[in-house]
Amino acid sequence: MSKRDYYDVLGVGKDASKEEIKKAYRKLARKYHPDVNKEADSADKFKEAKEAYEVLSNEQKRAQYDQFGHAGAQGQGFGGFGGGAQDFGGFGDIFDMFFGGGGRRRDPNAPQQGADLQYTLVLDFEEAIFGKETDISIPKEENCDTCHGSGAKPGTKTKTCSHCNGSGQLNTEQNTPFGRVVNRRVCHHCNGTGKIIPEKCNTCGGTGKVKKHKKIHISIPAGIDEGQQIRVSGKGEPGVNGGPAGDLYVVVQIKAHEFFEREGDHIYCELPITFAQAALGDEIEVPTVHGKVMLKIPAGTQTGKVFRLKGKGAPNVRGYGHGDQHIKVRIVTPSKLTDRQKELLREFNEIGGNEATDEQDGSFFQRFKKAFKGD
Ligand SMILES: [Zn+2]
Ligand SMILES: [Zn+2]
Repeated sequence: MSKRDYYDVLGVGKDASKEEIKKAYRKLARKYHPDVNKEADSADKFKEAKEAYEVLSNEQKRAQYDQFGHAGAQGQGFGGFGGGAQDFGGFGDIFDMFFGGGGRRRDPNAPQQGADLQYTLVLDFEEAIFGKETDISIPKEENCDTCHGSGAKPGTKTKTCSHCNGSGQLNTEQNTPFGRVVNRRVCHHCNGTGKIIPEKCNTCGGTGKVKKHKKIHISIPAGIDEGQQIRVSGKGEPGVNGGPAGDLYVVVQIKAHEFFEREGDHIYCELPITFAQAALGDEIEVPTVHGKVMLKIPAGTQTGKVFRLKGKGAPNVRGYGHGDQHIKVRIVTPSKLTDRQKELLREFNEIGGNEATDEQDGSFFQRFKKAFKGD
């Protein structure tokens, strides 16, 4: 089954604001939620809208979708997008989400997703063009092996905090000239966790987490560009209270190349040639990232002329063919001449080297001279 474009699913433009995306999803959710719509395909339509919303409402996921499309979102190495489309959640949840739910109290014992991590991966120019399989080592928090993340010494148990009864919050009442005010604060006995650890784990000191360097295998797709990122699902910080792990975002930086420059899928370079090669024409071996190519320089080539080698650029990261290589010719004026070379050039000038330029430039030279003579 081919997937519909997420923007089409929500019926919004590619430049839609967060508000527009939210509004569009709210409309569809109202229409298709299985609790209200009993038509046969409403569940699928709801799932589709939910999935589109999950991606487009998240800045990082949206950026990744814009760069890689569905293929990038599902291909190996990228991880999927949450995949939370199976459970609908109650109808009430959706509206809580949209209307803010009036400062819903967060239960410290509820499962929470771990934090996302970001890693900058520096690639050589060619590595970005051809892609790469690589292992990266990232410092990350892991659940402590000794206590399995509870923070309690093996054989002992955590207790519910008696000060806040496990809510992690304390209410304090204060009398003010305006009446009695109730303040809600994080419980300082348990630091908002709702739990007390009578005997702390020696390995992690009671935090339940340890810092480790973790090796993670990354597949860099061919044609990846500066600033693009790869999402590795579930490789972020571990979750709390049994919640899912966060995601790892690998952001790509590309080293500058000695003579190639890249803009999107196209590669640019400059080719220095001699005055004689430009005037007489030549065939020159030029480097491309795909190997050497013979480039024909026609006689009478001017400096600044750009030759295009079709398909010799970078592959499109979404799989749409290759870019081109653009070669800009620069004619190098010799700065060190032998006596014999000088003699030949003088002779060249005397026999009409000035008139050897083509008609257009010739007339330009004449107008230029006139401008200085004032006639
Ligand atoms: Zn407490
Ligand atoms: Zn521990």
